[in-house]
Amino acid sequence: MTLPTSASTDHDDLRQALRALCAGFGPEYHRTQAQNGTYPVEFIDALTRDGWLAAMIPESYGGAGLGLAEASIVMEEINRSGGNAGHCHGQMYNMGTLLRHGSDAQKERYLPGIASGELRLQSMAVTEPTTGTDTTKIKTTARRNGDRYVVNGQKVWISRLEHSDLMILLARTTPLDQVKKKSRGMSIFIVELADALGHGMTIQPIRNMVGHETHEVFFDNLEIPAENLIGEEGMGFRYILDGLNAERTLIAAECIGDGYWFLERAVDYAGERVVFDRPIGQNQGVSFPLAQAYVDVEAANLMRFEACRRFDAQEDCGAQANMAKLLAADASWKAANACLQTHGGFGFAEEYDIERKFRETRLYQVAPISTNLILSYVAEHVLGLPRSF
Ligand SMILES: Cc1cc2nc3c(=O)[nH]c(=O)nc-3n(C[C@H](O)[C@H](O)[C@H](O)COP(=O)(O)OP(=O)(O)OC[C@H]3O[C@@H](n4cnc5c(N)ncnc54)[C@H](O)[C@@H]3O)c2cc1C
Repeated sequence: MTLPTSASTDHDDLRQALRALCAGFGPEYHRTQAQNGTYPVEFIDALTRDGWLAAMIPESYGGAGLGLAEASIVMEEINRSGGNAGHCHGQMYNMGTLLRHGSDAQKERYLPGIASGELRLQSMAVTEPTTGTDTTKIKTTARRNGDRYVVNGQKVWISRLEHSDLMILLARTTPLDQVKKKSRGMSIFIVELADALGHGMTIQPIRNMVGHETHEVFFDNLEIPAENLIGEEGMGFRYILDGLNAERTLIAAECIGDGYWFLERAVDYAGERVVFDRPIGQNQGVSFPLAQAYVDVEAANLMRFEACRRFDAQEDCGAQANMAKLLAADASWKAANACLQTHGGFGFAEEYDIERKFRETRLYQVAPISTNLILSYVAEHVLGLPRSF
């Protein structure tokens, strides 16, 4: 069954096109990739070929020139079809950092290639093993030396590196004790991975519960041409933050896609499965958790479209993007639990795909930003409460 959604009449053509593409990659395809721990190359190639991963690149650079609302529908439909947009969502928000803060020369150099699919910008390296969410304390440094920067340090959980040509790197260019504000003195760079790997940059895969292609990264005197600095030196943290609103909204849309996927399967099963001579969905102990999760997914969906509206109108959307991410991650997790419970033992069988999607959607309580840190943002920036850190 296809559940009604509060935004079902908008973007129908877009949704139909995505559904047609995704229908070519059924449950067996995504299940096999997950079981083998492989990256869904054919699926991502099809999305790239049809231009979906260039949705937000302006037409002047060969992209579709669409807004965040449309890009978020692409992500939602991938997850609603049973896939996992986590394999490709990096491209959608990383290119925004380049578009908003890159020089004309950088945009000319990279954006047309990203739009055509010749270049992939799937990776962004922020997180470090010893500093975690306390990003301003990062220890990776980039020191200017003539026409190059020399990078030393370590990153962790850097995703999609083996399926990307470019990576955005955040590093400290001025030591923390020499800046007036701790958010200053960090810079972002475009790293061309073919030049960097084996020449000062090495990577180590991290096997993980969601089959994500992700790595530890080590920098040992990696040299980056100075022209690969994005924007002004020392302002990189602000540039990264700009992109995070898009990232959070897109991931909210993925969670919403997951939420509908879980609920559609659970409602079908609850109507069909007969125990004690009646469909299990007739028991309110089964139907109420599903109804509650549906209400939560719908509410998150409205907040997601409000975040998109503000982002696309170039209004401040920090609060809405964060709230959409929190609401959607909680709603999809609630839907995942209700779906698994509704299926009883069968929910644990790989062939139903529920245990896989259950693991995948759990990630969004933690990454790209944890629930606590979103609440901390709302408490401080929206409610005006004192900073806790
Ligand atoms: C599969 C996967 C893919 C990822 N991909 C990328 C990527 O491509 N690029 C990248 O840069 N990063 C990536 N990450 C990293 C991700 O963004 C971080 O894991 C996430 O931001 C949390 O940081 P942490 O793991 O260091 O947790 P920590 O910062 O160590 O926090 C641990 C826990 O403590 C809580 N906590 C910490 N401080 C406070 C506080 N002051 N108040 C209340 N609670 C607090 C947090 O909420 C969290 O639950 C990925 C992570 C995973 C798991």
